[in-house]
Amino acid sequence: MTSTFESPLAHLSEETLDELAKELDAIHDEVYSDLGERDRRYIKSVIAAQRQLVVTGRILLFASSWKPAWVTGTACLGMAKILENMEIGHNVMHGQWDWMNDPDIHSSVWDWDTASTAEAWKHSHNYIHHTFTNIRGLDKDLGYEIMRIDPHQKWRPVYLAQPLYNALLTVLFEWGVALHDLDLEAMWAGEKSKTQVLKELRGIAGKARAQFVKDYVGWPLVSAALFGAAQLALRGRLPQPARSRLGGRIRALGGGKWKTTADLLDRYAPGVEKTFLATVLADITANIIRNVWAHAIIFCGHFPDQTYTFSKKEVENESRGGWYVRQLVGAANIEGTPLFHIISGNLGYQVEHHLFPDMPSTRYSEVAPKVKDICERYELPYNSGRLGKQWWMVHRTIARLAFPGGKPRPKPGPYRSSADSGGGAVPSEAARHRRRLPAEHPDAGPEHVRGGVAVDPPPR
Ligand SMILES: [Zn+2]
Repeated sequence: MTSTFESPLAHLSEETLDELAKELDAIHDEVYSDLGERDRRYIKSVIAAQRQLVVTGRILLFASSWKPAWVTGTACLGMAKILENMEIGHNVMHGQWDWMNDPDIHSSVWDWDTASTAEAWKHSHNYIHHTFTNIRGLDKDLGYEIMRIDPHQKWRPVYLAQPLYNALLTVLFEWGVALHDLDLEAMWAGEKSKTQVLKELRGIAGKARAQFVKDYVGWPLVSAALFGAAQLALRGRLPQPARSRLGGRIRALGGGKWKTTADLLDRYAPGVEKTFLATVLADITANIIRNVWAHAIIFCGHFPDQTYTFSKKEVENESRGGWYVRQLVGAANIEGTPLFHIISGNLGYQVEHHLFPDMPSTRYSEVAPKVKDICERYELPYNSGRLGKQWWMVHRTIARLAFPGGKPRPKPGPYRSSADSGGGAVPSEAARHRRRLPAEHPDAGPEHVRGGVAVDPPPR
């Protein structure tokens, strides 16, 4: 495989870029004109499955003081949170399902179980990150403003600690993203008013309160109350620790005076207390599982060696075709099974997602061969690799660029289908798209306000 450092944009003329834009627009429009019942059924079934996982997890956690129930309940909850964030939240809020005009499954009304408010996230992700992808100084997701992820970024001593921030960010990803969405830098630069920042801070505080009340108070109380009710009904026959923590405190504080209360607590409360704490621990674990997974998928989709970054100068007067090429080479795919793609929100098709952020995620696997065909004909790379390989490259970069210096790493050469299929000519799946004019496509939902919250590529 040939290796190159030069941006693929450099070898494409304006006419070629226009031609390429038409081909990619045609792929988009063909999918949009075909959207229908099959897609609607898919997203509804994912949402239903996610809710069933939550219910199963919560029922299991009613018995969370029993280890096997804790483990399976936490696993169900972690998986439900992953689905809710990745395949549902991220994609619905991109407007991928707006064409259904569903009153609930729509980017203008959807909210998710994470620390970022929908409004701030749609602005920082859909608009800023997806429009200015990998432009240094404009795409604030390049290292999330706390890490040096590209050798062109100026080194500062604070980056020495970036392997540590990264480890912290892995565990607390949703909080990192919420703070990042605040864009304090814009406030310091005078581009954003303090009132706006305060308003957004109140939004995050509201989300934090909601998560705290739901995960760390409400559900643990429900679990504990149900365990207590079962214990009463069975006259204390359910297994539980010998002593109540609360009873112990009361005994220590009140001496002999509160003995009867403490004895009663010892009889009924230990299991209730244990269930409450075990449910809190299960919820903390499920939130961490979701954070670690989301961090891995997002970092592996953007920061492996294969991806290019761009200076502002390189993208001056960018055409639609130039925008497409920047998206194509600025992202990297992660290869995996169909189940892997569902639980990663189809962001294993990060390349296709960046080309068509508003296309329903299930269609990415279908358009991938057409995108590869375009890459082959236009001599462009198609960035892709297994999770382990992408993960290793990302973390090597984070470690290396913590120190001064560093060079861009070699990039893959143009995509070759023969290499992909292990030799032999592969018939082109996109031949019929060549030079086809883009068709009209139906507009998004009528009630949707898109100003500043949706991707904004150069017009056709
Ligand atoms: Zn996205």
